[in-house]
Amino acid sequence: MSASTARKRAKHEPQSHHHLRRDRRDPHPLDVEEEIADAAVDAAEAGAAIVHLHARNPKTGQPDQGPEAFAPFLKIIKQRSNCVINLTTGGAPTMKVDERVRPAALYKPEVASLNMGSMNFGFFGMLNRFKNFEHDWERKHLENKDIVFRNTFQDIEYVLKTLSETGTRFEFECYDTAHLYNLNYFLEQGMVKPPLFVQTVFGLQGGTGAHPEDVLHMKRTADRLFGDRFVWSVLGAGRNQLPIAAMAAAMGGNIRVGLEDSLWAAPGRMAASNAEQVQLARKIIEGLGLEVATSDEAREILDLKGGDKLEV
Ligand SMILES: [Zn+2]
Repeated sequence: MSASTARKRAKHEPQSHHHLRRDRRDPHPLDVEEEIADAAVDAAEAGAAIVHLHARNPKTGQPDQGPEAFAPFLKIIKQRSNCVINLTTGGAPTMKVDERVRPAALYKPEVASLNMGSMNFGFFGMLNRFKNFEHDWERKHLENKDIVFRNTFQDIEYVLKTLSETGTRFEFECYDTAHLYNLNYFLEQGMVKPPLFVQTVFGLQGGTGAHPEDVLHMKRTADRLFGDRFVWSVLGAGRNQLPIAAMAAAMGGNIRVGLEDSLWAAPGRMAASNAEQVQLARKIIEGLGLEVATSDEAREILDLKGGDKLEV
């Protein structure tokens, strides 16, 4: 999307990612489901037009792409909110693509996330800041320097084919300029349809950096490849979340925030919830004299099929 189109619309979609809060030992499964549902509904009430959801195993806290892990909180969210539901097809880097796509294939959400390239993935930088962990796997996961997040052309094609039949559209997660070129390949093949919802991701170890020049370069490249056929959004990881949100909002972009991407609300202060980060994103947008988009406005901007088309 060009900056001028964005300005004319003057709409932004704060978006939220949801992880479990880590304040309960051995939670009852129902608690976990309700926590995720509450986090999503609270984020929507704070101004998020779209909620992007992962599921977790209630005992171990590990990512769980079993559709049955999603069902309970999806039902609650649908009852309580009109927000756009966006399900992950990323899951975790250790999972195969057919496992990753299963929840979205079954529930047919309006949006599913899709990683646009294979990449190194490393969270080991976080070990300097976090020393205590609730679960054993967490430290091992953060220590791992051998993660390749596989998203080959074949994998991407598989997700596109599986989900396009259901009317699900995509949040194309682009961690580097190469991922924009990969998306352009699928556009040229006619396998993806504009308006493309392009989520440019900054500051994750293995992806592009979080310098303003990186943001500008991704934006320029997307503009050149897609012209007015895309809707631009940014995700800054960790402490980059809000500075990049502010920069992109001023340039006509949309914002994604949430605890999946950053644990912070301010330098040295951890966020209490996804909703708190949504409120901060909203302040940025409203501080610029713009308005946040409602979920229905986001549906229009992204040409989504409608909240009644989910099979939940
Ligand atoms: Zn995600």
